[in-house]
Amino acid sequence: SGSGAEGEAVSGAQLIAESLKAQNIEYMFGIVGIPITEIAVAAQAIGIKYIGMRNEQSACYAASAVGYLTGRPGVCLVVSGPGFLHALGGMANANMNCWPLIVIGGSSDRNQETMGAFQEFPQVEAGRLYNKLTVRPSSLEVIPAVIEKAVRTSIYGRPGSCYIDIPGDFVNLQVNKSSVKYMECCLPPPISMAEQSALSKAVSLIAHSEQPLLIIGKGAAYSHAENNIRKLVDLCGLPFLPTPMAKGVVPDNHPNCVAAARSTALQHADVIILLGARLNWILHFGLPPRFRQDVKVIQIDICAEELGNNVRPAASLLGDINTVTKQLLEEFSKRPWKYPSSSLWWKRLREKIMNNEEKSKGLELQKSLPMNYYTVFHHMRELLPRDCILVSEGANTMDIGRTMLPNYHPRQRLDAGTFGTMGVGLGFAIAAAMVAKDRTPEKRVICVEGDSAFGFSGMELETICRYNLPVLIIVVNNNGIYTGLDTDAWREMLKFGEPATCIPPVSLLPNSHYEQIMSAFGGKGYFVKTPEELQNALKASMADKQTPSLINVMIDPQSERKKQEFPWLTRSNM
Ligand code: ADP
Ligand code: MG
Repeated sequence: SGSGAEGEAVSGAQLIAESLKAQNIEYMFGIVGIPITEIAVAAQAIGIKYIGMRNEQSACYAASAVGYLTGRPGVCLVVSGPGFLHALGGMANANMNCWPLIVIGGSSDRNQETMGAFQEFPQVEAGRLYNKLTVRPSSLEVIPAVIEKAVRTSIYGRPGSCYIDIPGDFVNLQVNKSSVKYMECCLPPPISMAEQSALSKAVSLIAHSEQPLLIIGKGAAYSHAENNIRKLVDLCGLPFLPTPMAKGVVPDNHPNCVAAARSTALQHADVIILLGARLNWILHFGLPPRFRQDVKVIQIDICAEELGNNVRPAASLLGDINTVTKQLLEEFSKRPWKYPSSSLWWKRLREKIMNNEEKSKGLELQKSLPMNYYTVFHHMRELLPRDCILVSEGANTMDIGRTMLPNYHPRQRLDAGTFGTMGVGLGFAIAAAMVAKDRTPEKRVICVEGDSAFGFSGMELETICRYNLPVLIIVVNNNGIYTGLDTDAWREMLKFGEPATCIPPVSLLPNSHYEQIMSAFGGKGYFVKTPEELQNALKASMADKQTPSLINVMIDPQSERKKQEFPWLTRSNM
């Protein structure tokens, strides 16, 4: 190919940008450099929003969050070799979460392959492990078709990540427009429905259950099934439990939410309706001791291969969650059934809920300093708006925050997810703030980070300030990973010798002023040690709707979560 004598010529960079635009891609995150700078420039020129990040990993996390939040993949644009490698974490994270994502990586020029070219790496081979689809266009002419296929693959069936490898010499190469195979926007994912026999089986199992439980997963959030799931909960009077990112599909304050009695609900349910959640570590594999040996699982998923994983389902409903939930609603309107709220099961769940809420009250209202996790989250719960988008990561910070900070709306909680990834928070917050700015500007993004988690991508504060995103970052700072040392203990410890031989692996520098990084870029920084200072900082940052801010909350470095009822619970995150 080359520019013909007559007809208009188009460059590879332009073709990529036009094709993404034709597939309704709105956002691109990346870091420019050889050979992909022109792609970012062309994308921006055509109206795709380009957000330049400080590390490809964060760029990739951000692009993947756009996919989850909007149902349309975000694009991550990276340079060859190291840029591509840094993005692998984001691809894996998106794929593990079943979120759509498109990654475009520049690679070395075709005529230098295997010669030791600048930043050469076997990107296509490496991409295979991390993606649903890995593809390298063989000519400029097929770029629109390759991009259409990647976008379609990322959102059809179980969503996931797709990688497109672009030879460096393609970017500025020109081709005659008349020879390009242009593509229309791919059609929305076709909707699949559960077969009638499986549906009838499910309805019968539910209607005969004695201790039913509905588990709502982030697949339900992704499929926008909130209205129908809420109807199902109300119509059938089912107790429900959201997984971490499914919080808010049905509001946490709905009377049927049994999140505060999670262990009891899982342990004793006889029939479980699993709506878009995998029986992986997050749900203890669906096995004893966390579940009954004889529990009957009604599994609902869009991915056929998922059905039967770890537990043999009593009914398998293959299909889109929103549609299958509608089917269930229709069945139950033909054959009305409501689980009695006077049942022993409800009594037991309600007692447990009250009990557990009592237990944390004491910790929440503790007056002594330094503060503990529960006090910090208590004040956040009091002062943060109900409809904010919560991003959260860290070990204790995320776990305790999940139980204490309610969600009232779907897809407004983003966290470490299926892969348990730390370092996702700032990228997610940037993506959520970009999406909110365009769609729901009244919603604030609040990013609750452990001090260790914050460190993975802390330089993205510059990105937040550059794009003037009114994100509030709260660093719950315990001077370490899991636990840390206070300044006195730190000084004592250093007497024992060489830092590398005596600083505990869990420790981070005590009293780090992370808020000063925010003020360095023009945002507002708050260093707080008392509940009053925390309240004031929260109020000030919520009142200021324009400026990014960071509240660095010093807590007891030895603060821990409240005692778990079962010793085996402390081993996992839940
Ligand atoms: P959680 O972490 O909340 O437990 P998982 O990520 O484990 O959730 O599970 C989500 C499940 O939802 C995946 O198995 C995925 O195939 C499924 N899923 C995604 N989108 C849909 C959809 N539209 N309809 C049905 N299932 C879906
Ligand atoms: Mg910490």
